[in-house]
Amino acid sequence: MPHVTGAMTPDPAVNTHCPYCSLQCGMALRPAPGEGRAEVVEVVERTAFPVNRGALCGKGRTAPAVLSSQVRLTEPLVRRPDTGRLEPATWEEALDRVAEALTGTAQAHGQDAVGVFGGGGLTNEKAYALGKFARVVLGTSQIDYNGRFCMSSAAAAHNKAFGLDRGLPFPLADVARTGCVILVGSNLAETMPPALRYLTELKESGGKLIVIDPRRTRTAEQADLHLAPRPGTDLALALGLLHLVVAEGRVDEEFIARRTNGWPEARAAAMAHWPEMVERITGVPVPELREAMRMFCDAETSMVLTARGPEQQSKGTDTVGAWINLCLATGRAGRPLSGYGCLTGQGNGQGGREHGQKADQLPGYRKLDDPAARAHVAGVWGVDPDTLPGPGRSAYELLDALGGDVRALLLMGSNPVVSAPRAAHIEARLRSLDFMAVADVVLSETAALADVVLPVTQWAEETGTTTNLEGRVILRRTAVTPPPGVRSDLEVLHGLAARLGWEKGFPTDPEEVFDELRRASAGGAADYSGITYRRITEEDGVFWPCPEEPHPGTPRLFLDRFATDDGRARFVPVSHRPAAEEPDAEYPLFLTTGRVLSQYQSGAQTRRVEELNRAAPGPFVQLHPQLAERLGAAEGDPLAVVSRRGRAVAPARISRDIRPDTVFMPFHWAGEGRANALTNPALDPVSRMPEFKVCAVRVERMERAPG
Ligand code: SF4
Repeated sequence: MPHVTGAMTPDPAVNTHCPYCSLQCGMALRPAPGEGRAEVVEVVERTAFPVNRGALCGKGRTAPAVLSSQVRLTEPLVRRPDTGRLEPATWEEALDRVAEALTGTAQAHGQDAVGVFGGGGLTNEKAYALGKFARVVLGTSQIDYNGRFCMSSAAAAHNKAFGLDRGLPFPLADVARTGCVILVGSNLAETMPPALRYLTELKESGGKLIVIDPRRTRTAEQADLHLAPRPGTDLALALGLLHLVVAEGRVDEEFIARRTNGWPEARAAAMAHWPEMVERITGVPVPELREAMRMFCDAETSMVLTARGPEQQSKGTDTVGAWINLCLATGRAGRPLSGYGCLTGQGNGQGGREHGQKADQLPGYRKLDDPAARAHVAGVWGVDPDTLPGPGRSAYELLDALGGDVRALLLMGSNPVVSAPRAAHIEARLRSLDFMAVADVVLSETAALADVVLPVTQWAEETGTTTNLEGRVILRRTAVTPPPGVRSDLEVLHGLAARLGWEKGFPTDPEEVFDELRRASAGGAADYSGITYRRITEEDGVFWPCPEEPHPGTPRLFLDRFATDDGRARFVPVSHRPAAEEPDAEYPLFLTTGRVLSQYQSGAQTRRVEELNRAAPGPFVQLHPQLAERLGAAEGDPLAVVSRRGRAVAPARISRDIRPDTVFMPFHWAGEGRANALTNPALDPVSRMPEFKVCAVRVERMERAPG
């Protein structure tokens, strides 16, 4: 069984990174002693990597288990018309079938009838190649990725306020050295445990931690102050804090005058949210609001960090904007050890959107509707800019269009049957397609619906870069020989492109792809042109933007100027509005969803790891004892949670750590406990992020099965 030895990294261990979350913890892999098989590896601490300094959570520690051929696909599968079943096929047959189906669909219904859906776990090289494949080979505008579900509201707010979107504008280690952190809607004790040490160090050095979360999570337990607002009201909470900042004379007028625009309008919007009104909206008492504001302002430096809580809302962009306004009004931005940052979620959610698999973007964070950007990227690709399609639909809108005007889909590294909002509807849309091809490591719930399944290599079996939550570009290196029968995603795209008339332009060597990506990104907002595999290895990652060498990279953004045209940050006036769906007589409770320590996202990989399944075997419904009493429910009783979109059944987990008006479900599982059967796809008007974090439900106690 793979394990952490606790030893220093020895030769011939290979330095690489965890396949899961955006912390991208460094680790090393070496052949497991006594196994006699090169493909069986164990994890060794890599203490020199600065982000996690050797620490790993259980998901990372057990990640090698998914390399085992017993749990994964090792040969292509093709659905046979006579049996209707997926059955083994050769690579030639499988790729031929995909190429024919994509071509036939485009010929019959137009190029936009072919959709492409990517994933936030794909390396930069794969995301880049997938975006290029969609726009150059398929000529479709219909491409997006599941990272849209992850942090796109923070990205939109970042762009509005600062003119640039990078998760954290500073290294994570700065968090330990600031004076006060407000952590909004993040349970990093479970989602990225090695990052908790920075908050522990913050507190050990006298800093303060404020956690805002409707639940008393393991992270909230560490806080000096925990505020538990009603789900979907943290925009009002941020406005209330800004109101108090003004009322108590804590505004940094000098900073505002020197480095920002738009304060009068933002100030007026905040002053319309007086504390007692905010208490009524959020349920957070005024004295707690005042205490939070004073903690934040009393510290010489402070930060606000947000995660999925405030972002996955139909007003996520405005909510993050309100927190940014708080930072700007108090001079907590563009200064060392102060600022706003987003704790991005998926392993390469950041890089995935920088390099072209997002519906509206080209490599280098260029905009697809910008003629100069189109000309630059088309020049690198050797095509006429006029042949590039325009922006397409966002992720949910694309999935919702399947079987309508989008009739065939190529999907890589995503499992929307579990992870999309209103998941039963999306599953029906996937089933209604004329054709779907899925490239994945395992037969996920989505792959099981495909017409062709392409088995691909994964993290430790391939080389490629990702960009972590700090904007640090890091290199995963091949440590394990993949099982015979699997190919890399780059080989898949190469094979398909060749069949569709593009013999050249889709290399299979990741470093060659990265070098092209560097050229495509040169001069863009996310400029990678000075980053090389060699530099990443020597420097423990390089922070973008990094134009041509000898540029040192940019660990800290905005210290001299913001990335707007005039170099000044922009306040964005925002006002509270309710969630798209509020509780009512029929659906009287809030549902909020999230993750648990031992599973990751849709669980496609982690649900195949025995140790993780023992720790987190299935879904549950967390509810307050008062609510349990009203329902007559005891611990473990099966509960049906019902929303306007569907129903999910899971055992009760009774806890005082949640508000009595709210239930929580983790979203990692398929089947009857699928939390996303309930969630609301109401979209943020700017980011097009669905409102995963709040919807209205009712809960019904069910009879326990006999025996
Ligand atoms: Fe992997 Fe994230 Fe756990 Fe680190 S914190 S080991 S990157 S899942």
